[in-house]
Amino acid sequence: MKPEIRIGAGWDSHAFAPGVRLWLGGIEIEHPQGLAGHSDGDVLLHAVCDALLGAIGEGDIGTHFPPDDAKWRNARSSVFVRHAAQLARGEGWEIANLDTTLILEQPRIGPLREALRESVAGLLGIEGGRVSIKAKTPEGLGTAGAAIAQATVLLQRG
Ligand SMILES: [Zn+2]
Repeated sequence: MKPEIRIGAGWDSHAFAPGVRLWLGGIEIEHPQGLAGHSDGDVLLHAVCDALLGAIGEGDIGTHFPPDDAKWRNARSSVFVRHAAQLARGEGWEIANLDTTLILEQPRIGPLREALRESVAGLLGIEGGRVSIKAKTPEGLGTAGAAIAQATVLLQRG
């Protein structure tokens, strides 16, 4: 079979809120505020999930895990990412690499980068070297109260 490749892009944002635990990349992070919204609000994993689903033409996270379905209200986003990776693998795809960018004021991602990389790679079942976690502060965007994540994934098979 001729080798094939697919690219997928994901984007997500969530607002910070007090009294909420902060989940990023599948790990809980010590921080005064967390990300409110669908499931555990893990903006990074939601973008990764959408990138995977986009690459295989399987809709988006809302298609598979509707936010109005009580079953998913407090679900861990790692469940979503594992499911999306399994769907891709079921069609014979391997993840060549994943590149991500977080855009947020706090917390600082530098000290967390390696832990995030290993966590996301573990959920995808690939080595850490295939995962990139980058971070920017939202200069000039006026989005200090939110976290934004972008993800791009490349799949290959054959
Ligand atoms: Zn989300």
